[in-house]
Amino acid sequence: MNKGTVLTSAYFFGVVGDPDNLKKIAHHLTDWHVPEHLNKGHLPHKMYTSIYMVEPLTQAFTNIVERGLVDQVHSYDGSYNNRPKRGNPLTKSLHAGGAAIDLNAATNQFNKVGDMSTELIECFTDVGFHSGAFWKKPKDYMHMQLSKDLFDAQYLRIHGKLPIAA
Ligand SMILES: [Zn+2]
Repeated sequence: MNKGTVLTSAYFFGVVGDPDNLKKIAHHLTDWHVPEHLNKGHLPHKMYTSIYMVEPLTQAFTNIVERGLVDQVHSYDGSYNNRPKRGNPLTKSLHAGGAAIDLNAATNQFNKVGDMSTELIECFTDVGFHSGAFWKKPKDYMHMQLSKDLFDAQYLRIHGKLPIAA
């Protein structure tokens, strides 16, 4: 179910820059207005997120709508957030570059088995996202993040060259 290599914080921030350098990281972030046809239920209408998330999320949200799963989205719980990883204070979370999204946090708490359905998770993994539901430890059911392959492909599409990590 997981497509592609894991996008590590070391590689991602090696490419987009130090997440504490807000001016620099802002070049890789966008105020994304979700297209009208995807403004359904509790799907977000507006997100501050990575520019590399826009196309993959458009596809994932389209999957949710087309597969009739909008009712399973109870809350949008954030994308960009300059913070460390949960349970790993020395490493920045991919959220610090907007390369992840959390949904249905109330019933999918960190390191607990959540109630996110396989069908809903597949709306994201079919596009190439990695789901924290499949991590051995710690579990993070609310969390989907770009795979390295998906990030590389989006970087290439936007910048016309593959990323090089510093
Ligand atoms: Zn998350």
